[in-house]
Amino acid sequence: MSRESANGHKEPILVSACLLGLATRYDGKTKRSKAVMEYLQGENLLPIPICPEQLAGMPTPREKTFFKSGNGLDVLAGEGHVVSESGESMNDIFCRGASMVLQIGHLSNCRRALLKERSPSCGVHLIYRGEARVPGTGVTTALLIEEGFEVVSEEDL
Ligand code: SF4
Repeated sequence: MSRESANGHKEPILVSACLLGLATRYDGKTKRSKAVMEYLQGENLLPIPICPEQLAGMPTPREKTFFKSGNGLDVLAGEGHVVSESGESMNDIFCRGASMVLQIGHLSNCRRALLKERSPSCGVHLIYRGEARVPGTGVTTALLIEEGFEVVSEEDL
């Protein structure tokens, strides 16, 4: 089904920049997804690329990060912990990135987001707690869901 408004504008959707082919990942690589590109084209959506970690001011490449405790919702509540491999707390910077993404979502009239699964920022159903893959959302995803956005991952397509 085409998602075009009466005035011909495509519906905007926030999309993790790495899924669109931008080299925004911690390792300086991309995760370009053919399925995502086909989905956006097939649904006639206008992708608004976002990388919460870059928007928060983190460099690329950067240290790998993961949850030490809790999940994205817990971090927003000041309870969980995201840390870098060297043990530095990433809570504040991840919350800043989430807030930047929310602002961009509002400015671009998005109500939906398509985000990269398993990232501590963008994960939708799964995150890493240490080396373990566990159910949970990333920090940006948690904030978008709290604010009423419909969020899916590339693995939901
Ligand atoms: S923070 Fe999100 S958009 Fe940025 S590289 Fe990680 S998964 Fe991709």
